[in-house]
Amino acid sequence: MHECDLCGVTIEGEPAGRGLLLFVRGDTLLREEPPLCERCAHGVGVAAMKRWELEDEDG
Ligand SMILES: [Zn+2]
Repeated sequence: MHECDLCGVTIEGEPAGRGLLLFVRGDTLLREEPPLCERCAHGVGVAAMKRWELEDEDG
């Protein structure tokens, strides 16, 4: 049993997708992949791509 990390809905079976969170703590890179429901998995993917475009544009 999983819970969507974003909206908290109960996910039956395997999560539709997983988010990818990266944290930098000093010299350590922490990586988390929280389970996401289908709706949130799609939303996070879109948001991540938009952020990627912004970073690319800036660099
Ligand atoms: Zn969700």
